[in-house]
Amino acid sequence: MKLIRLREGKERSLLKRHPWVFAGSISKGGADSGETVRVESHDGRFLAWGAYSPASNIRVRAWSFIESERIDAAFFARRVQRAVALRARLPIDSDSVRLIHGEADGLPGLVVDRYVDTLCAQFLFAGSERWKAVIADSLLVATGLQRLYERSDAGVRALEGLPTHSGWCRGDGATEITLREHGWQLQVDVDAGHKTGYYLDQRDNRQHFAAAVRHFGCAEVLNCYSYTGGFTLAALAGGAQRAISVDSSAPALALAQRHVQMNGYDAARHETVAADVNQHLRACLAAGQRFDAIVLDPPKFAATAAQAERAARAYKDINRLALQLLRPGGLLFSFSCSGGIGPDLFHKIVAGAGHDAGVDALILQRMAAACDHPTTLEFPEGDYLTGLALLVRA
Ligand code: SAH
Repeated sequence: MKLIRLREGKERSLLKRHPWVFAGSISKGGADSGETVRVESHDGRFLAWGAYSPASNIRVRAWSFIESERIDAAFFARRVQRAVALRARLPIDSDSVRLIHGEADGLPGLVVDRYVDTLCAQFLFAGSERWKAVIADSLLVATGLQRLYERSDAGVRALEGLPTHSGWCRGDGATEITLREHGWQLQVDVDAGHKTGYYLDQRDNRQHFAAAVRHFGCAEVLNCYSYTGGFTLAALAGGAQRAISVDSSAPALALAQRHVQMNGYDAARHETVAADVNQHLRACLAAGQRFDAIVLDPPKFAATAAQAERAARAYKDINRLALQLLRPGGLLFSFSCSGGIGPDLFHKIVAGAGHDAGVDALILQRMAAACDHPTTLEFPEGDYLTGLALLVRA
């Protein structure tokens, strides 16, 4: 068993069950990529069992804080089973759910989404990579399913010194799946889609949006960063007469258009715009267009706290433009999925945008990721998705 010894004073976060050990906290010890290590304080007290990642700045991620716990196949089977059992108890109106949400489920660097009968996993860290076969078996046993697709093609793998990989890990067949969310049907391609194929984290917020569009009688809706049109369906379900999906990805927009038709909405109510959102918002403003509701759900502008400042300017810019484009009484659903930007900072950024836009808006609702993407008390970094539903005063 390899040993990792921390510098004096660096044991505090592990004692609070925060699962990360940064390279700078370690005084001695090392191991192979993904190997299980025993982490000790400077004076030799047990702190955690973790997995070592020689290339990553997050050098160890903890599996367990219990000294008597063995990190073996039975351990992973227990953790996977616990995560799957939790989802069965949560209020989720969909046949598709995030089953494993990394650190929050005690499985750092592992993301698993279930789309109907198919699992799609991202192994994002040396530890989850090393235990891949064991984790895959545990997932099939815990769910009773037979198909597991691997999408380990995220950029963070490079930080771990791991190559990217996609393909069937267990089972095979078509990679296109039709899922149900709030009574809508959506197609997901676990091979070609973004991340694992779909953004399950916005499930509740799409429903909130549909309800708000209906309640406030929004006729014209601009869905920015639409991807495959989840919020577009919400707008149409809420009674919008005209919904416009804006995204830089043409395949995503083609699927959004398909989703409108699959769900029985008149295709004439939907338009797609393949463009950069910032540029498109400026063009709309220059053309004097106005909307009753706007969604801003951009990709991650800041992966780390260090990038937060530049990202803050980008968020402020699009929020200001959107607020300027709203009619009095209009709605803005604005999100950030940047881990480096917490809810308080996001609030400040959007407040700055409101000030610059010269609008008076109030917060109808604060939003976060759906409950199958839990945040734990020990790991606030997991709270990546934050959103504000704003009502511009008439
Ligand atoms: N709201 C979506 C998820 C959005 S993900 C949903 O509910 O499913 C972010 C989307 O932004 C992706 O589809 C990506 O193609 C798009 N995107 C990224 N940068 C962009 C840009 N500069 N302009 C327009 N779209 C962009």
